[in-house]
Amino acid sequence: MRTIQNGSALAAEIASYRAAGEKIAFVPTMGALHDGHLSLVALARSRASRVVASIFVNPSQFAPHEDFDAYPRPLARDSELLAGAGCDILFAPDRATVYPPGFGTWIEPQGAALGFESAIRPHFFRGVATVVARLFGLVHPDLAVFGEKDYQQLLVIRRMARDLDLGVEVVGCPIVREADGLAMSSRNIYLSGDERRQAPRLHAGLVAARELFGVGERNSDVLKNAVAREIAAAPSFELQYVEIVEVDRFTPLPEVDDRGLVILAAKLGSTRLIDNLKLER
Ligand code: AMP
Repeated sequence: MRTIQNGSALAAEIASYRAAGEKIAFVPTMGALHDGHLSLVALARSRASRVVASIFVNPSQFAPHEDFDAYPRPLARDSELLAGAGCDILFAPDRATVYPPGFGTWIEPQGAALGFESAIRPHFFRGVATVVARLFGLVHPDLAVFGEKDYQQLLVIRRMARDLDLGVEVVGCPIVREADGLAMSSRNIYLSGDERRQAPRLHAGLVAARELFGVGERNSDVLKNAVAREIAAAPSFELQYVEIVEVDRFTPLPEVDDRGLVILAAKLGSTRLIDNLKLER
């Protein structure tokens, strides 16, 4: 695996792949990698002959009060993990490579970007969409893999790629969880021992809704109440939102007929966690 930090070295390597007729898959990350990220690399590997992963902690998707400075940056370990997963290039640009002096173009996604994550983090999708468009412009991949863990983000990026004809196929990858159900996240290391013991309640809430759906419950409020009840049983959780949405448009469903997506966000102490689960007949 080659580690590349600047845009022109990356462009030269990508050009050599293109000349050889290779198909390029891209996995953007903020590092502090776990098995969830590595599953994206494995999916990318299965879909293309070359895999480029990026590590860039994107300042524009953090609000001033958020954890940009504290965000973990274990680059040596991440690099070993990516090499072991069969990645060809680790692109680890610095801030000035991604946002050169004079950078002045921002993408403001609408549609599925409105509500939920945006309601709590109004800056977030503008930062994510802009950095992903910028990284697509640097890497020029054929396809890019994003986790279903951040389902709203996946839809926002897919829509952007279509709306702007970026020529990148956006592929979703299922959530990887710890044995007790907690969705893997780089932020899980912020949890105290006690919070970590309470954390699986989030997934247990989603499973409670899926079980009710499985025995025929279709009313969204009843399903959401089951989620909220389960989470409320853990004292340190503060639920921010729980909703059942149509999977492609992210519009709330009052009744869930054939399928829906239960989405939620909660704070556990000072750590913010998000998760989701599909309901399917
Ligand atoms: P991040 O480094 O947190 O920005 O995430 C980079 C990519 O990894 C995003 O596409 C996430 O959706 C994805 N991802 C993060 N956690 C998981 C997980 N537990 N399972 C699957 N994908 C994940």
